[in-house]
Amino acid sequence: MSKKIEIEKKVLSENDRIAAEIRKELKKRRIVSLNLVSSPGSGKTSLLEKTLAALKNEIRMALIAGDVQTENDANRLINAGGEAVRPIVTGGACHLDARMAEKAIASINLEGIELLFIENVGNLVCPSSYDLGEDMKVALISTTEGDDKPLKYPAMFRRASVIVINKIDLLGLSDFDMAKVKKNALQINGGLKIFEISCRTGDGLNEWYNWLRSLTGRQ
Ligand code: MG
Ligand code: ZN
Repeated sequence: MSKKIEIEKKVLSENDRIAAEIRKELKKRRIVSLNLVSSPGSGKTSLLEKTLAALKNEIRMALIAGDVQTENDANRLINAGGEAVRPIVTGGACHLDARMAEKAIASINLEGIELLFIENVGNLVCPSSYDLGEDMKVALISTTEGDDKPLKYPAMFRRASVIVINKIDLLGLSDFDMAKVKKNALQINGGLKIFEISCRTGDGLNEWYNWLRSLTGRQ
């Protein structure tokens, strides 16, 4: 085995060990956790802003916002009413790892928290390899991207449980083909749950909110 592969394997097994600890702790506290992944600009932060505005009086949420540089997204979530928000600035790393998540989670008072969102760094490649101890990965795609994304990044769509297709208000302004993207995604992972939304107009968001309610034992 080459040295590089050996080191990579070691890093990932250490990551999995920490992720398992996070998962155990969250399970014990009955906290549902979602790891949001996408390309930059698909709307992860916008979706979380909307979700906070709609559900903050109903579901107690904690949010971790990962970025390569700046705490801008975390500040947006605080402005949207988030009470337990933590930034992770990776300082160059193009993904979050379990150690970063562990540190951020440890700084949050988890008492009473029901739902934890982890917004990953915008990148559809390596975040697929790093388990953060979440219950599910939620992958966002927007209609301004190519409808072949699931075919180009199969590992991410295989490991995701849910996809959220954002910016449906812009359908028709690009060559994005909704039927095709769904077919491509389901070809990679037939078990995917799919939401079609627009954070701008609010279309489709009620289905998303209802799903979050059902995850946290409401309805
Ligand atoms: Mg963001
Ligand atoms: Zn990376």
